[in-house]
Amino acid sequence: MSYINENFLKLQDSYLFSTIAKKVAKYTEENPDKKIIKLGIGDVTKPIVPACLKAMHKAVDEIGTTEGFKGYGPEQGYEFLRKAIVENDYKARGITIQEDEIFVSDGAKCDCGNIVDIFAQNNKVAITDPVYPVYLDTNVMSGREITYLPVTAENNFKPELPKEKVDMIYLCFPNNPTGTILKKEDLKKWVDYAKENQAIILYDAAYEAFITEENVPHSIYEIEGAKEVAIEFKSYSKTAGFTGVRCAYVVIPKALKGYTKEGKEVSLNKLWNRRTCTKFNGVSYIIQRAAEATYSEEGKRQIQENIKAYLENAKIIKEGLEEAGFTVYGGINSPYIWLKVPEGMNSWEFFDKLLEEVNIVGTPGSGFGEHGEGYFRLTAFGTKENTIEAIERIKNWR
Ligand code: PLP
Repeated sequence: MSYINENFLKLQDSYLFSTIAKKVAKYTEENPDKKIIKLGIGDVTKPIVPACLKAMHKAVDEIGTTEGFKGYGPEQGYEFLRKAIVENDYKARGITIQEDEIFVSDGAKCDCGNIVDIFAQNNKVAITDPVYPVYLDTNVMSGREITYLPVTAENNFKPELPKEKVDMIYLCFPNNPTGTILKKEDLKKWVDYAKENQAIILYDAAYEAFITEENVPHSIYEIEGAKEVAIEFKSYSKTAGFTGVRCAYVVIPKALKGYTKEGKEVSLNKLWNRRTCTKFNGVSYIIQRAAEATYSEEGKRQIQENIKAYLENAKIIKEGLEEAGFTVYGGINSPYIWLKVPEGMNSWEFFDKLLEEVNIVGTPGSGFGEHGEGYFRLTAFGTKENTIEAIERIKNWR
């Protein structure tokens, strides 16, 4: 008999996006003449920039030649990309990271999910609520105890340090879904907590490229001592529109240690390297060349233009909603706008009203966790025209 991992039975079914899709489909069927504007999904809409396309085409031609053919590549990523990451994402910000502390992957989702492999089941895990569901579900799958850290307007969307000791802490800033950030001094508290408690911070910086304000850390390693306590996840998905292309990386500094039951120190970089070599074949050469091209002068400029356009949409949404009398968070260092739903309504009731009365689709905050109830997420990833139209509708509606 093959016994299953019963932890999977503890997972809550995720009905969020399927329920949204069903509601939208039903409304469209009953109201075929209405133009629905979707500001709900977290996917980007702008195509891959020319600099990355050029790099991919070149790589495609290269592998069609005997000299340029690439078979199995290094599991950790090609040196050219790891070098470009070290130079551009770290050295340029005054952070020293070694190439062998970088592991190139096919997604921050997979990295956030897979990293639990190298940690014991009895670690206590702290997760913010509301949250990007991958951290929660992957830890439920592997049977860990979860402590929730509420992030709401009451604490200014800054999670408070846990009262009881935890061993692993997931932080995501700029945050999905709330669009809020931590300042350097806020993040330092977490680094200090992790040091005092021999805990590990799993820092998801997938939206780092959207930071516009000063004193907001682009990397947790901007905080002194973080290399001893933090793993960092980065992704090209939202930065460079790679949601379909697939490329990301994780940083595991060599100074980072885990412990055996007997209290012996073990390098997490070594463990992750072993896991990567065993379970992963690396990202395709063509895609890694595309990721490298995001750091070329041309690539940087083209990508910045896209990010600027998304941030302009965010501004249109934020300011428009404020004018319409809503209380709004995020949208300054993030493509996400998190709004408080009007008194007397819950997140799903607001979803229905918005769909039926102004034909706009967003995401109910309660879908991201209990403390997301009473909030609603809109995204800046739509077209400018649709964003403007959606906000005009909401203003006229209110
Ligand atoms: N982390 C956060 C917070 C996200 O919102 C997302 C995607 O929506 C990811 C990670 C996934 O990134 P990737 O496309 O690299 O898997």
